[in-house]
Amino acid sequence: MNILVINCGSSSLKFQLINSDTEAVLAKGLCERIGIDGEFTYQPEGGEKEKGPKAMPTHTEAIQYVIDALTNEKTGVVKSLDEIDAVGHRVVHGGEKFASSAVITDEMLKAVEECNDLAPLHNPANLIGIAACQKLMPGTPMVGVFDTAFHQTMPKKAFMYGLPYDYYEKYGVRRYGFHGTSHSFVSKRAAEFLGKDVKNTKTIVCHLGNGASISAVLNGESVDTSMGLTPLEGLVMGTRSGDIDPAIMEYISKKENLDIDGVMNVLNKKSGVFGLSGEVSSDFRDLAAAAEKGNDKAQLALDVFAYKVAKYIGSYMVAMNGVDNIVFTAGIGENSGFVRSAVCEYLTFMGIEIDEEKNSKRGEEVVISTPDSKITVLVIPTNEELAIARETEALVK
Ligand code: AMP
Repeated sequence: MNILVINCGSSSLKFQLINSDTEAVLAKGLCERIGIDGEFTYQPEGGEKEKGPKAMPTHTEAIQYVIDALTNEKTGVVKSLDEIDAVGHRVVHGGEKFASSAVITDEMLKAVEECNDLAPLHNPANLIGIAACQKLMPGTPMVGVFDTAFHQTMPKKAFMYGLPYDYYEKYGVRRYGFHGTSHSFVSKRAAEFLGKDVKNTKTIVCHLGNGASISAVLNGESVDTSMGLTPLEGLVMGTRSGDIDPAIMEYISKKENLDIDGVMNVLNKKSGVFGLSGEVSSDFRDLAAAAEKGNDKAQLALDVFAYKVAKYIGSYMVAMNGVDNIVFTAGIGENSGFVRSAVCEYLTFMGIEIDEEKNSKRGEEVVISTPDSKITVLVIPTNEELAIARETEALVK
């Protein structure tokens, strides 16, 4: 079965065409900087990588480029869209409506739309991706794989806020968690890589990308995670604030004369390392370069980020009464030895020791702790696309 996996983020769209029988990636690519200027990368299996600027004001243009590339006479990997058997879409928020992946129907889309308010940066982008695919590939079965599903195993003490209980019952106000496909894949793969049984392992997964979250995975099940009702809670992220004193919202609203939408816009798009650095960048490569040149705010943003990650790791050790493995993944987690090292510095009291030579590796499965380290620290590149393809195949077969 050929499965097209679409992972639509707020400003990026990753895609892979995966043969689910062999799990080979027939072609893959990336649309970056959607809504900014746009860059398209496409690589067919065994073929030349193409990369170049393409105007992408919205996700619709991005998906059109994907389809054009896959069916291109010279560089495409399928003759026509008929050779794509199913599409698996990453969907960020399923609320309490979806505890597992679901075949896409009109009713299902309506339920996803009802969750839009909970993930205003992501669900609408996911739905645009689904609508564009449905228009161009009528009749092809599609599946939605939810970021929230893996965290449905969280106990109530971890997912309830200290708010009136009514809000949970009436409005579903609770912590849901995100990046579940990644936390699930990475925790399982880490155990496999280390020759351990995931069902008998305490793992902390640090998914550090533009959106970032940490999870405590006890015996294969998520028991806590840093994102909440929406992806805004938890770590300091690229442009999101993460945890703040909720009273800041009223204070800023008065001082800056902003309504609630204005405040939310600041928390989602103008905060995080971008805001902290004085708007140098949300990209860690830019921040590291600026810090190296002596930009104090860029350095502060990196320091705040690493400190917060380390504090969450500490709290999840408490949540699980210990930890066996700490895993780094996603854009920053896989590539930034600097960030991994800065985080682990805080954990030396636990007997964690990092081998800096191994830690200098990028984007590969590697144990970065020394053999003497009391806790194993490793990097496992996430593969949400493969996880989505597996889920999609299971539902459409
Ligand atoms: P993701 O959301 O998982 O795609 O991750 C995006 C983030 O990964 C951005 O903030 C990038 O700056 C960061 N990233 C990618 N490559 C590197 C690198 N070589 N060093 C540091 N950060 C990186």
